Amino acid sequence: MKTSRRKFLKVAGLSAFALAGGMTALAGEAKAQVAPGKYVKREGMLHAKRWAMVIDTRRLKTEADYAPLIAACAKAHNIPDIPGDRNVKWIWTDSFDHVFPDDMNNHLNTAVRDKPYMLLCNHCTNPPCVRVCPTQATYKMEDGIVAMDYHRCIGCRFCMAGCPYGARSFNFIDPRLHLPDPVPNPAFPTRMIGVVEKCNFCVERLNEGKLPACVEASDGRLLFGDLEDPDSPVRKALAANYSIRRKPSLGTQPGVYYLV
Ligand code: SF4
Ligand code: SF4
Ligand code: SF4
Repeated sequence: MKTSRRKFLKVAGLSAFALAGGMTALAGEAKAQVAPGKYVKREGMLHAKRWAMVIDTRRLKTEADYAPLIAACAKAHNIPDIPGDRNVKWIWTDSFDHVFPDDMNNHLNTAVRDKPYMLLCNHCTNPPCVRVCPTQATYKMEDGIVAMDYHRCIGCRFCMAGCPYGARSFNFIDPRLHLPDPVPNPAFPTRMIGVVEKCNFCVERLNEGKLPACVEASDGRLLFGDLEDPDSPVRKALAANYSIRRKPSLGTQPGVYYLV
């Protein structure tokens, strides 16, 4: 490995890890050897036993409805906009038959069938991406978030093959070449060519006491909270409405629910 790449991996991985774990104070030291998932809790951070998201698709009907949510995520995480099929996706939209193939039928209500649906990593309870990752670059946290440690990622793409939801993107191209200078959020690390990335449930924002960026931009159409807390907005929404999840037959137990 070239010295520059090794040096970058150390710095980038440490930065990502420190930010994600509320360990910013340690960023100047060589703490990258800390085992994944061992986080120092920060005062004021939001806690949950099991973070989950509820998407109210009844109030999200067009691409224009989703645009501010997608823009908020891109801004918060310095996600590049790369033309063509090499783009990086943390949050995106697709058609009903692609999102819910198990529920597709020929006589589905057309209003439900013909609109776009938002997609992101499901932060599965049984995540195959974690099982297949040989380096622990992908790992599950105690609160249900499936996190990534970029400096451990060797770009083998096993996780992409293992994820049945297409929730991961490989950086075929240096993402920094497609970002403005300065980047939209200098406090969040940029990634490099050859690593995989995905939605992180805004763990860095939760650590600062803030809700995920897409939730904040959604005007109440996305809900976020603790699935183990009956008083949380997600539990209340799920108790009062009909909801579905993606590909339930696979047994991954997604942490993202759709009100339809
Ligand atoms: S959606 Fe895919 S990437 Fe996200 S936790 Fe589940 S298996 Fe892993
Ligand atoms: S590409 Fe990176 S995160 Fe994915 S399985 Fe390989 S090492 Fe793990
Ligand atoms: S939860 Fe955060 S990282 Fe995930 S899609 Fe929303 S804004 Fe992006």
